[in-house]
Amino acid sequence: MAEITESKNFIHAFIEEDIAEGGRFAGKTVHTRFPPEPNGYLHIGHCKALIIDFGTAEKYGGMCNLRMDDTNPTKEDVEFVEAIQEDIHWLGFDWGDRFFYGSDYFEKDYEYAVELIKKGLAYVCELTPEQFKEYRGDVNTPAVSPYRDRPIEESLDLFARMRAGEFEDNKYTLRAKIDLASGNFNMRDPVLYRIRHMHHHRQGDKWCIYPMYDFAHPIQDALEGITHSLCSLEFENHRPLYNWVVENVSVPCHPRQIEFARLGIDHTVLSKRKLRALIENGYVSGWDDPRMPTLCGLRRRGYTPAAIRNFCESVGVAKSDNTIEFAFLESCLRKDLDATAQRVMAVLKPVKLTITNYPEGQSESFEVENNPNNPADGKRSITFSRNLWIEADDFLAEPIPKYKRLYPDGPECRLKGAYVIKCTGCVKDEDGNVIEVLATYDPDSKGGDPSDGRKIKGATIHWVDAANCFDAEVRQYSNLFDDPDPDAAGKDYLACLNPNSLEVLTGCKVEASLADAKAPASYQFMRLGFFCPDSKDCAPGHLVFNRSVSLKDGFKPGK
Ligand code: ATP
Ligand code: MG
Repeated sequence: MAEITESKNFIHAFIEEDIAEGGRFAGKTVHTRFPPEPNGYLHIGHCKALIIDFGTAEKYGGMCNLRMDDTNPTKEDVEFVEAIQEDIHWLGFDWGDRFFYGSDYFEKDYEYAVELIKKGLAYVCELTPEQFKEYRGDVNTPAVSPYRDRPIEESLDLFARMRAGEFEDNKYTLRAKIDLASGNFNMRDPVLYRIRHMHHHRQGDKWCIYPMYDFAHPIQDALEGITHSLCSLEFENHRPLYNWVVENVSVPCHPRQIEFARLGIDHTVLSKRKLRALIENGYVSGWDDPRMPTLCGLRRRGYTPAAIRNFCESVGVAKSDNTIEFAFLESCLRKDLDATAQRVMAVLKPVKLTITNYPEGQSESFEVENNPNNPADGKRSITFSRNLWIEADDFLAEPIPKYKRLYPDGPECRLKGAYVIKCTGCVKDEDGNVIEVLATYDPDSKGGDPSDGRKIKGATIHWVDAANCFDAEVRQYSNLFDDPDPDAAGKDYLACLNPNSLEVLTGCKVEASLADAKAPASYQFMRLGFFCPDSKDCAPGHLVFNRSVSLKDGFKPGK
């Protein structure tokens, strides 16, 4: 697991101020929370929040709660709750026994609302949603609220009857009495409760009034003893209301909200709503389609927790929104896999290679290192015989300038880990397509060890032994969106999709050692990239690999 780097960020600076002697949380344990709404799977943007929430708690020897924000009765689903837990554990974070649901606090929320009414700080309003908008005012005009001075007793009675189910949706709301002229519209007597005759996935039909997030969230934080409520920047304008709530109801503590910038990544979208639409419209196969920026999609693509955590750590914590290149995420994965992935040989677009001077029926094996970057990974043996597979584009019947691979009477080339060969010709079908490449080998070059001192003009080529290799399907992915910024406001992101983001190759040939490959595992297919067995579709006898990332680094720091 990647180490959380020790770099100071502004959140840490605030926290250190708060826990220092004389600070507002002096002597207290730092306590954060991660509050996902269970209406979809976590994406890489959430990962940034996870690292900030869990990572900050870890750094200060504190705790981080996991809380499902299911205040809103729509769309929540156990499938999402379980998937969120799985993804967080996969990243290496743990909430211990501190797993909560926002809806568990509904009764408390109700009590605090009653407390506000009794203090003259909340009232029942009967503006329709349309009137509410109309009466909101603008920067120069204060809002108008005709029911603001409703007597406390009357509001208490109406609020109790709202809860009892006497009224239809939207008939009444409960509003905080704050400041109709505030420059911050969130403070212009915001709605705290609304009537919704809806079934709740955990509460059933117990409730027909539901608290607004801005009211419920600070109460949840305070009841859990959260010291620092870390959230993304869109909540900055809601902070005065957050503070107003915790200051005016008798909660046991006053958490501090601190905002950070959301993470954006180019060529993708990071919004559950948009990701869900990609699935519903059949553009991807599901939340875990390897092209999705979801954690389960990235996992299936072959991403490792270390690579993702390193990525989020390197991006850092900023105070203004930033879009990071997908190429940088790829570069973090490449770095991780380069150190850990086993090297193997696979041929994606095969053509037959026959070593004409190698006796038919003969076979021998060579020892090769599993990972030259890590000799402790040991060695394995690969077999060699007269019939091999090589990449079709490692041969040209008519060479082009500077082509250093196989062509008739071309230069000597090394077969990776085996012999030096020389191309002598090829066999073509009736249409002129090359169906077999012919070559001779040099028996004295055994082992193909580049340190044998031989000067070989041609390239080193990968291959697999036709006698015992396996067929495989290989799925290669590129950007889901052609447009670098499909998430931009007002853009029709579906029109920005890359129609060629998935390329499926069948009839690929992989070396015998991959016969039982299964996820999670990562391999470097030599000269091609890093690949992983598909966690859903790969099985012995039906091998399926996903390209995690190519070998070539497209990321240029400081570009
Ligand atoms: P989405 O638009 O994808 O549904 P959300 O903010 O509604 O995002 P939540 O499930 O409510 O998603 O998010 C849980 C936490 O993750 C919140 O604290 C939110 O601020 C944070 N978060 C969500 N997206 C990002 C992002 N792109 N970068 C950083 N933090 C994020
Ligand atoms: Mg949300």
